[in-house]
Amino acid sequence: MNVKLKFKSPFIVGGIKRVSNYIETLDYIPGNVVRAAFARYILNNCPCFDRDEVVEIDGEKHRNWVYYRNRPECQKCRLKNLCLKFDDIKFSFFYPEGTDIIPLTTMRCKMRPEHRLIDLLTEKRECPDCIKAGNSDTRVEAVSGYIKDGKDYKVSKTLFTRTAIDKYTGAAKEGMLYSIEAVTATDGENNIVYWGLIKGITDEDISAIDELRVGKYTSVGFGRCSIIAAEDGDDRCAPTLQAVENKEEITKKMKLFSERYRANNKITDDYKYFAVKFVADAKLGFKSHGGNEFEKYKNNGELKDIWFNALRAYKTDNSAYEIDKVYAEVFNFRGYDTSKVGDIREEPVHMVQKGSVIVFKTLKPFNEIFDDFVSMDGFGLDTENGFGWFEFHFGLEVQVND
Ligand SMILES: [Zn+2]
Ligand SMILES: [Zn+2]
Repeated sequence: MNVKLKFKSPFIVGGIKRVSNYIETLDYIPGNVVRAAFARYILNNCPCFDRDEVVEIDGEKHRNWVYYRNRPECQKCRLKNLCLKFDDIKFSFFYPEGTDIIPLTTMRCKMRPEHRLIDLLTEKRECPDCIKAGNSDTRVEAVSGYIKDGKDYKVSKTLFTRTAIDKYTGAAKEGMLYSIEAVTATDGENNIVYWGLIKGITDEDISAIDELRVGKYTSVGFGRCSIIAAEDGDDRCAPTLQAVENKEEITKKMKLFSERYRANNKITDDYKYFAVKFVADAKLGFKSHGGNEFEKYKNNGELKDIWFNALRAYKTDNSAYEIDKVYAEVFNFRGYDTSKVGDIREEPVHMVQKGSVIVFKTLKPFNEIFDDFVSMDGFGLDTENGFGWFEFHFGLEVQVND
């Protein structure tokens, strides 16, 4: 179901430490962070939770682990349902209410930013408004980030200076100062509202939760929020896989996109072309080949193979699809699993940034393409926490030409 997080206090997520003593928040909330907030809530309200208990899952030891203990107290627990199905719940990434992620194929007029945005996949790399006006300089440049009601969008952040807070325990260390940047507003009225999708929960489940604590430094008051169901009509709420019931409309748009892409790139073969946009960061798995595949690639063909394998794009018929083009930002990421006992660092993984776009080609008909891709949870690893979720991308005109 589509839900909103309404914050009562600023939040800090991710905690990228750019320079020492300065912690910068992300402006979005990955699904694993929302899952952790749910876990914290369940355990804090669980009559049989033992803080020192260590649970072994797949050979790794964890503390603070949510599982159904099936004790007498559990029978009348109001969180029983959530607890029972916790492993099956899927969390999307959460974004500022009303925003869309700008695809990395988007370009803007270099001289006049008010001119229409273009999408490289279906249009030439020059400003159409400047061409129309007869301007000599028609250059365009890359755009990224969020868009809301056709305009660039940024959340408001504020710097807080606090006593140093130990990054794992939340306990304050004496004598050190940190500057912490937190998200303080998503609109002009100092509200902080994020939207997203949680699969596998009901209205009853979320009404059993009176307050979540999302992100870091929650022990000193950051990240307090309520969770509510999105109202009707808010169904574009979650940036996620398009709804299966929109198949007809989506395949129509895919067909149109394919024609425009082929024309723009002067393609004359028999393939159908379609694009997907990542609505979340994607974690790519590269362990099978060893080493850093991105630094080793030799040519375009190999690069596409690496991408294809990393994305784990194919489920059943892996010969049917090929990658035509990739527009992606890739970064290395090493997360921390604070539930782990011992070394809490995770293996570093390659992350594909949200907004990245991949163009595929195939000889399959559009309705089969739709079925194949909609049946996937997402690309890459950790899709139960929103990583690798995507939607079909048709160019920009739907979003910005109003
Ligand atoms: Zn219990
Ligand atoms: Zn222009």
